Amino acid sequence: MAALTSARYEPRMTRDELEHFMREALQEGRRAYPACAPNPPVGCVIVRDGAIIARGYTQPPFEHHAEPMALAAVEGSLEDAVMFVTLEPCSFHQKTPSCAREIIRRRVGALHAAMLDPHPRNRGAGIEMLRAADVVTSVGLGSAEARRDLEPHLWRPTD
Ligand SMILES: [Zn+2]
Repeated sequence: MAALTSARYEPRMTRDELEHFMREALQEGRRAYPACAPNPPVGCVIVRDGAIIARGYTQPPFEHHAEPMALAAVEGSLEDAVMFVTLEPCSFHQKTPSCAREIIRRRVGALHAAMLDPHPRNRGAGIEMLRAADVVTSVGLGSAEARRDLEPHLWRPTD
């Protein structure tokens, strides 16, 4: 019988594990710059059963963002997997398709984003899409480090 719950997945990780995997995502992000410019150097890991099964970071313009790069490395449904990403996934189609849409299509069970994307076309919209699709989503894990890495590369009102 199908359970009519809003959350498909209940992440079971200690604070130490969560922080460890977000640090791994931050490390991935540091591999992206400068090839990724002008896109922000985002990093991502996908975890299943306590182990990293895929990694990604922002590729040069018109190529994969961090999340689809990691998703491309694993097959099948990811209902039992957790994604750690250093920036809110993009909600909108730009030079590449929306990452949030792809994460939903692959049925990722849970997602931890370090910080929101200040881009006017995102600003929480990516997180809202994920939550509306029952991806268990948190924002803020590792935010201090993510800000240090990403803020120089994020959208600013003067752009
Ligand atoms: Zn994206």
